[in-house]
Amino acid sequence: MFKLNSLIRPNIIRLKAYSSARDEFKGEAEVFLDANENPFGDLNRYPDPNQLEIKKKLSKIKKINKDQIFIGNGSDEVIDLVYRIFCEPGIDKALTFSPTYGMYDVSAAINNIELIKVPLNNNFEIDTKELDRYIKDENLKVIFICSPNNPTGNSFDRTSVEYILNNFNGIVVVDEAYIDFSSRESCISQLNDFPNLIVCQTFSKAWGLAGVRVGAAYSTPEIIDWFKKVKPPYNVSSLNQEAVLSRLENKAQFEIEKNIILNEKEKIIKRFQELKLVKKIYPSEANFILIEVINANDLYENLVNQRIITRNRSKLVRNGLRITVGSKQENDRLIQAMERISKQSLTPKT
Ligand SMILES: *Cc1c(COP(=O)(O)O)cnc(C)c1O
Repeated sequence: MFKLNSLIRPNIIRLKAYSSARDEFKGEAEVFLDANENPFGDLNRYPDPNQLEIKKKLSKIKKINKDQIFIGNGSDEVIDLVYRIFCEPGIDKALTFSPTYGMYDVSAAINNIELIKVPLNNNFEIDTKELDRYIKDENLKVIFICSPNNPTGNSFDRTSVEYILNNFNGIVVVDEAYIDFSSRESCISQLNDFPNLIVCQTFSKAWGLAGVRVGAAYSTPEIIDWFKKVKPPYNVSSLNQEAVLSRLENKAQFEIEKNIILNEKEKIIKRFQELKLVKKIYPSEANFILIEVINANDLYENLVNQRIITRNRSKLVRNGLRITVGSKQENDRLIQAMERISKQSLTPKT
């Protein structure tokens, strides 16, 4: 049985949340002398701690109530808050499927939480048999599922995600940072069926706002209340809130750019298929491609020398290089460089 309150850390249960000046009055106001702000300037006022305008817009786009949305300073804040709300340092554990996004690990280490890493199988799918060895551990509080997964690019089956939601009594975080690039439906539609589900998304990828640091968590109103209690009161600046709002105004532009990126991805894949250098192109539902090459370290260095930076993931995936889909010009430059290197490496050195 899932019991939310028994999963919350005791010090968080006892926590009396900070109440900001703007939270404490109701009604219309004209003179604000409550928050020790400076009366001069354009950015002199504290931002809306509840990010209501953003939540109003997102609630329409995502078809979900405002009280089921949390806005964070990037999804990295969401990940950190999950540890701080649910995991007792030095005692509790979290679990993830490797290889995956590095922040689950870093954030676990910062919070002194043991992170169990269950390897994905050869097709980068979740091995539920292997998972069964850990799922009944009383100190296991959180499972992170990154889908589409970074750096492998694939999404996980609905059946394996549902298996975890049904069989694990702790919190399941589904990180959907790349969901807009995938044709699959978001797990947001399953929030009514699973009281232990948190879906995490970001404005950093398909929305093109990595610079503004805004991410979102979607869950039950009860879980979202804990996030609101534990977050710093003004966690998203007014400049950042405005940047998100103006981007949300123009969903048509978002669709156009997303489709350009997806078309460019197909182009890169076609051209890579012709290169001897590239041994394997893993299927991708994201805005990056994971490839296996003959020698990832050499290729990485070679590209760096041509001022093209890719992500060397060979420590996680044998000879794996992760390549983000860029602008047409950037992608063409990458393809040309790869074609040149491919030709050179086929001519024997003299
Ligand atoms: C890029 C990425 C994020 C985004 O993090 P932000 O803090 O929102 O920029 C989250 N999860 C995964 C798996 C990512 O690859």
